[in-house]
Amino acid sequence: MRVINFNAGPAGLPLPALEQARDELLDFHGTGMSVMEHSHRGKDYEGVHDEAVALLTELLGIPDTHQVLFLTGGASQQFAQVPMNFLTPGASADYLMTGVWSEKALDEAKFYGSPRIAATTLQADKRYQRVPKQSELQLDPQAAYVHLTSNNTIFGSQWHTFPDVGRVPLVADMSSDFLWKPTDVSRFALIYAGAQKNLGPSGVTLILAAKDFIAKGRKDIPRYFRYSTHAENNSLYNTPPTLAIYLVRNVLQWVKGLGGLPALEQRNREKADTLYGAIDRNPGFYRAPVERESRSVMNVVFHLPTEELDAAFVAQAKAAGMVGLKGHRTAGGIRVSQYNAVSPQDVKTLTSFMDHFVKMHG
Ligand code: PMP
Repeated sequence: MRVINFNAGPAGLPLPALEQARDELLDFHGTGMSVMEHSHRGKDYEGVHDEAVALLTELLGIPDTHQVLFLTGGASQQFAQVPMNFLTPGASADYLMTGVWSEKALDEAKFYGSPRIAATTLQADKRYQRVPKQSELQLDPQAAYVHLTSNNTIFGSQWHTFPDVGRVPLVADMSSDFLWKPTDVSRFALIYAGAQKNLGPSGVTLILAAKDFIAKGRKDIPRYFRYSTHAENNSLYNTPPTLAIYLVRNVLQWVKGLGGLPALEQRNREKADTLYGAIDRNPGFYRAPVERESRSVMNVVFHLPTEELDAAFVAQAKAAGMVGLKGHRTAGGIRVSQYNAVSPQDVKTLTSFMDHFVKMHG
């Protein structure tokens, strides 16, 4: 019996992707071994690797100017690897601060140069409840890059329009909303995302970077930390996380089967409308702190009138087969992570529960 999984990450995966993995676990395509027992240099694994890249390229319409990389170390490694490559001594980079993950990215950049805070929506209570407006950005045209977090997993806000940063390369941590809708990749010098929300299991980190940006990376750092090393070797410089990439491939096949990213966007917007609708029709009971224009489609944060009710909500939802609803300790309350694998029906089941909960406790 599978539960309705609203975990923030690692998150639920589409059932067909898991079923395929189950069916092929002991014998991948009649080879007498699983995909994870194959050499990463053999043609069987190579087919999976290349298909994952090809599917992403097709789904996102990735232009020739950009390259897909599969790295390890999570988005947390990217917090360091981006400045390690591009923040040369004396240079500065602009960071747009919208949550806990932006703070972690900024902290790592401080090891390599002088990152600047070009905008922040941090409040006196240490929370972030919106993303900045274009007019609030104080951008340095000489910056090595501008870094933003496209979706703030903990506080539940999201950039719905990416800022205009002029000619400065734009770098985005898209860990928690990568692939939720069609995205113009050409606007970004580098995108990174841990796979474990929309894309697959943990263990692989997706990078999508402009080839000319990669080429600008420092050469006086260890090879393994240069993007160029992985770009030159099609992410096969060393042994990649083959099982994780295989599962990403399965998830991408599922996305394609669903109708690609336009279909996924429609599905995700429908889920968000359903869920925010349930919150907004009970404003005295459910309180969503994030400003409307910044509300995340992926992570929906709200509070009940008391912490006791928050806890009762989580416990009763769990008893009804819905897990992963407790808010992050920094934000409190409830967080519904409704990544791509969560279905509109799953969200309707939750909102029926929410309406019922108000009747019982409101
Ligand atoms: N950035 C964002 C936006 C995240 O949500 C997370 C994980 N929740 C991270 C970075 C860190 O990712 P990882 O655990 O892959 O290092």
